[in-house]
Amino acid sequence: MKKPWIGFVVIAWLWAMPTLAMDFKVVFEDAAGVGFNSTEPFAGHGANRASTLGEARRNVLFRAIDMVRSQVHGDGIIVWRVRFNERAGYLAVTLGPAFQEFTSALSPEQNVAKFPFEHGRHYPGPLMLALTSLDSSYADDSGEDATTNFSAYGAYYGYDTNAPTHSFIAVVMHELVHVLGFTDIKCLGNCIPAPVSKPTHFSKYVFGEAKPVDGMSLAELNALYLSRDKLWFTGSAHTQQAAKTLLSGGHTNGSLHLHAEAPYDGQNGSHFAPQMFPAQLMYSAGANTTDFGMAAYVLCDIGWCAGKGEVQDLVVSVATNPMLSNEPSLLSATLENASDYAMTKPELLLQLPASVQLSGLAQGCALEAMSASQQQLRCQLDSLGARQKHRFDATLRAAKGSYALYGRASIKSYAVDPIGMNNIVDVTLSVTDPVPLTVNLGADVEAVAGTDVRLTAQLAGGSGSYQLQWQQTAGPTVSLTQQSNSISFVAPEVSSTTKLTFKVTASDGRQSQTAEVTVTVTPKAKPVEPQPTPPPTPTPPPAPTPPPAPAPQPSPPVQPASSGGAGHGMVWLLLLAVWRNRRRWR
Ligand SMILES: [Zn+2]
Repeated sequence: MKKPWIGFVVIAWLWAMPTLAMDFKVVFEDAAGVGFNSTEPFAGHGANRASTLGEARRNVLFRAIDMVRSQVHGDGIIVWRVRFNERAGYLAVTLGPAFQEFTSALSPEQNVAKFPFEHGRHYPGPLMLALTSLDSSYADDSGEDATTNFSAYGAYYGYDTNAPTHSFIAVVMHELVHVLGFTDIKCLGNCIPAPVSKPTHFSKYVFGEAKPVDGMSLAELNALYLSRDKLWFTGSAHTQQAAKTLLSGGHTNGSLHLHAEAPYDGQNGSHFAPQMFPAQLMYSAGANTTDFGMAAYVLCDIGWCAGKGEVQDLVVSVATNPMLSNEPSLLSATLENASDYAMTKPELLLQLPASVQLSGLAQGCALEAMSASQQQLRCQLDSLGARQKHRFDATLRAAKGSYALYGRASIKSYAVDPIGMNNIVDVTLSVTDPVPLTVNLGADVEAVAGTDVRLTAQLAGGSGSYQLQWQQTAGPTVSLTQQSNSISFVAPEVSSTTKLTFKVTASDGRQSQTAEVTVTVTPKAKPVEPQPTPPPTPTPPPAPTPPPAPAPQPSPPVQPASSGGAGHGMVWLLLLAVWRNRRRWR
């Protein structure tokens, strides 16, 4: 059997090496050049920038695995064989998971702490692995847990479902839920002869027309599977409540309708009925969604949640302030419990290049080396209350460039998280050189004594947040009033033209720049002394105003006839009077 992508297997595995956690060992079974090994050029979908179709498919597969790993906690390794292989009638089909009969003798404490296993029942191998790491007989990573055949059905290879076609990531998520044990029970009923068979652990939650299928004869089961929509999954009180809250169709008193249409298509016990609404990941034909939705509750009931079976939604977000080359910058990662139950041991892992320096780590965080080029920030909390947030801060410093940051948040306490997209952060940190700070006071200013003068600093670049310091550097001191980016003052009384200079120093905390401007103050024009109340003389004596200039003798004869020089003189007198008035009332 060819394993041309063993390198990818190792990479996927390394991810979780530092801790004990559920991991997937993927075995690619396609021949060279096809399926996951296709070399067909790929143009990129969404954030998936692969260059070949095979690489694009593998990227999506590992992204889906990461989402599931962040949503379902467990210990151990699941061996998953995958290939592209059209099988008539299936868009994708998973064979398995392998079931194992539970025969181990766990101590009562172990059994209660983990999950109440029943002797003689058959449990999905991955679940056994996840929950019985105490017992080495189940920690077998040499065999296979499940095999999945994919087809070209999910032809969109972004990490989202924002495409007109079906997204491959939704297909992979769907199949992974089968791998975790959301499976058909029919085969076990057939394959394991009664009474040895207690057909799977899953089946004890499955009812047909209100009767538990556990214990039904094969004939009864067959009849039930041929009935339409008479097969229900009835889980915990949490499941029943969620069904009423989250679904507008496809449930009866909180019991989820399972698909029970055809006896041999493998859909009956392992998928929700088509009338379930809104569409669910485990809908018969595979809804185009990456949320576990109600499947989270089913997974919880069949063992992936310990104890009380709460389904908990953990959300992670990451923010940085603008990162300048080799300057400290703040990285904030926030974990949010978006559910109504307190969660225990939420954890955040952030992978980033080793060349990014991290310091000032928040309490609960530690830095781990992954390789020469990668490091990982691990932050843990003991608990996070319902609807609470917790922020982890760190100081980042890096040279100019782009840095990929990838992370996932998970709950370490056997909870199932219904929404996987919000457990993943995938951002590019962009570190730039600081933009030069500039400050400008404009052209020099002229002002008449006694008038208001305003100087405004024009600022650009830097961080965008500025502090200004104004200073008068020459001339008679004036009193400055500062307002935002401006100062104002009254031009002082001067007896002759006087220059005042002002300097502003602008700073954004990192850079500072100065600018200067000169204000030239001219004396007030001599005001016309108010006449000592000129008596209202009725007829001011004809002012000894300059007589109308006698027309130059050789006056150009071209002058058109007009009202003559006297008329002009009157106009000037009037203008002068107006002008004087203006001066007086100024
Ligand atoms: Zn399916």
